Amino acid sequence: MKNVSIAIDGPSGAGKSTLARALAKEKGYLYVDTGAIYRTLGYYVRRRGADPKDEVEVLELLRSAEVELRYGEDGLQHMFLNGEDVSREIRLPEVSKYASIVSAHAGVRAFLLEMQRELARKHSVVMDGRDIGTVVLPDADVKIFLTASAEMRAKRRCLELQQRGTPEPLDQVLSEIVQRDWDDTHRAAAPLRQAEDAVVVDTTTLNFEESLTALLRVIEEKIG
Ligand code: C5P
Repeated sequence: MKNVSIAIDGPSGAGKSTLARALAKEKGYLYVDTGAIYRTLGYYVRRRGADPKDEVEVLELLRSAEVELRYGEDGLQHMFLNGEDVSREIRLPEVSKYASIVSAHAGVRAFLLEMQRELARKHSVVMDGRDIGTVVLPDADVKIFLTASAEMRAKRRCLELQQRGTPEPLDQVLSEIVQRDWDDTHRAAAPLRQAEDAVVVDTTTLNFEESLTALLRVIEEKIG
């Protein structure tokens, strides 16, 4: 049977990863969090003290980075960097900035493109990111553009950081989100944008259950 691919794109904090993970569980598909892959590269560049803005330096460094996705028995995606599980470290707020800067380089995106496509060839996937429906899987069976107001996304991110034990003030999180939105939508290489054939789901006024129901309805309508 043909593998199914569901692409979910959208800005930071729209609820992509929580919802995509729940959807994958519901459908029995593999969840691929592509932001975690960019975060792993950002983390590596930071740890090695390289300049994330310098594409040549970053690409040279990536030659020594072996990035792997492994799935635990709980079905959760873990990121391995040169054999080391860095799943926790890549969530630190300072790594977000590095991920966003390195992900703007065309060479970095090319480095990860085949890895992402290969996962979708081998498995039915729910894949989330910024350019999944537009660049990585242009033929995805279902494309969803998940969004919410910047204020609501900042509030959700604050709650998440608090639960992780790394709280940050709301105004700082909001300004980082606005900055990251701008960077992600204005870069030349694979900017964040809605695919023409994507269905927009705005979660500003929806809770988790309502958002999940909305997504399942879109999937049902597209592929039954
Ligand atoms: O989704 P998450 O916040 O973990 O992603 C971290 C950063 O990685 C984003 O701000 C974005 O710049 C970049 N990214 C990307 N393309 C993707 C996924 C993430 O450019 N497909």
